[in-house]
Amino acid sequence: MSAVVSPNLLAEVQQFLDGTTKCGFVGGQDVKSSNGETFTTSDPGSGAPLADVYAMQADDVDRAIDVARDAFKKAAWARLQQNERSALLHRLADAVEAKKNVIAQIESLDAGKIEAQAQGDVQNFVDTIRYFADLALHTQRRNTLAVARHEAWTMRQPWGVCAFIFPWNFPFLLIGWGIAPALAAGNTVVIKPAEDTPLSAIYLAQLAKEAGIPDGVINVITGTGPVAGAALTQSTKIERMSFTGSPEVGRMVGEACGRNLVPVKLELGGKGAAVLFDDVDVAQTADKLVGAITFHAGQVCCDATRWIVHRDIYDQFVDACVDRLQKVKIGYQLDGGSQMGPVVSAKQRERVLGYLTKGEAEGAQCILPGGAAEVEGYSGHFVKPALMAGSLDNIAAQEEIFGPVAYLSKFGSEEEAIEMANYTQYGLANSVWTNDMSRAARVAEELSAANSWINAHNVFAHGVPYGGVHKSGLGGGVLSVETLYDYWRNISVVRPL
Ligand code: NAD
Repeated sequence: MSAVVSPNLLAEVQQFLDGTTKCGFVGGQDVKSSNGETFTTSDPGSGAPLADVYAMQADDVDRAIDVARDAFKKAAWARLQQNERSALLHRLADAVEAKKNVIAQIESLDAGKIEAQAQGDVQNFVDTIRYFADLALHTQRRNTLAVARHEAWTMRQPWGVCAFIFPWNFPFLLIGWGIAPALAAGNTVVIKPAEDTPLSAIYLAQLAKEAGIPDGVINVITGTGPVAGAALTQSTKIERMSFTGSPEVGRMVGEACGRNLVPVKLELGGKGAAVLFDDVDVAQTADKLVGAITFHAGQVCCDATRWIVHRDIYDQFVDACVDRLQKVKIGYQLDGGSQMGPVVSAKQRERVLGYLTKGEAEGAQCILPGGAAEVEGYSGHFVKPALMAGSLDNIAAQEEIFGPVAYLSKFGSEEEAIEMANYTQYGLANSVWTNDMSRAARVAEELSAANSWINAHNVFAHGVPYGGVHKSGLGGGVLSVETLYDYWRNISVVRPL
């Protein structure tokens, strides 16, 4: 099944979308669901179905975990010399890089992501694999120490099977952020992609086999959250769980892992603030924040969705933003001129539109009303950017909308700005905008989230930890050397001398 008609479609993507039902990938082989159940993944830009995909059941998930356990125990992966394992990961990165355009187009079609943005995601995946492959070379070690007539040594060893559950907004990039440290440390992985966006994970698993990653090291189980996802979280045979998604599901995942005492990492939602002082260049700041809120149609966990603006520049800033937001070219994700594609599904569009209605009903002013957008020739899930303003108690200022909607508020003093920015249950990412670097540093450190940016938003670097606190997550985050340590357990041995 594939009804994609874009003239820009690559032949290899057409081949991949060949009409066959897509399988999961376990132990180096395609696998179907035990009961034959399938689901359909669609193109958010056209609404057309892309592929039917097997929906794994609890027994399928159990088998996949067993295969990953066998691969951990019997296959050489965990026992490879670190340089051999790192070399294989570089081969995986090479293979992905060679197919960058193909994967990016699959991702773009499945997630509704602008194609150039999807290419950036694939490159980021490659860079993440290489970063952890190299980092592991320098960090895996055995320490020996002599203490009070005893010799002690500590070793870092991989855990075993690490499970990963991913959301639909950055399906491929997040797989890289998740599995790169786990694999580099010698673990095997079972991945469950979101049911809205399973295709890039399926493609990756096949590519990994071709790149020489041993069978059973990377396994993909396709399926729904309540069935396949829940079975993975409830398993007593996984050693670690990493979940990226909503706080609501994250709580369930945490509870299930807690019952089995499985260590868990939760990367959850956000409601970030951008605090703008009166000395900023209004035009430049509007460019950057409008760019951020419309990137992937606002479906970005760390976005600045609350814009807290000094009262002296408020009106000027609002005008600059309205002007820019009205000019954003909404279009099909594979059309070169499009700046903002669709949201991922009809359900997501309803969610975004629902928050506009509920926010207004609670008294927020709709400066730019947003709403459903029409794109000629495509019947996808397009929405217009929206700007709201009002009390920070408003539902639209408190809950994660996950669309191109920003909520404006005014402040007078620095203390007031900090208090307003911290008036949220989330703790993922904020930004401070000012030319006064002392003030920028002071405020950035006072903001109650794990990540603060200065005169920028959504900037990532390998080596700089990224994760959430409060309702935005727990477990130490991703992308840093500490993440790699999470995927090794420490073993200590002591003997009398
Ligand atoms: P979601 O929580 O609905 O789904 C995420 C994943 O969980 C999917 O694979 C889904 O199938 C699975 N799932 C659903 N029910 C489950 C269950 N009962 N047991 C186990 N797994 C289950 O989230 P979403 O709508 O896919 O993604 C959007 C959310 O992800 C937003 O809140 C966003 O902020 C967050 N997110 C966070 C980060 C981060 O790094 N902090 C990154 C991207 C997205």
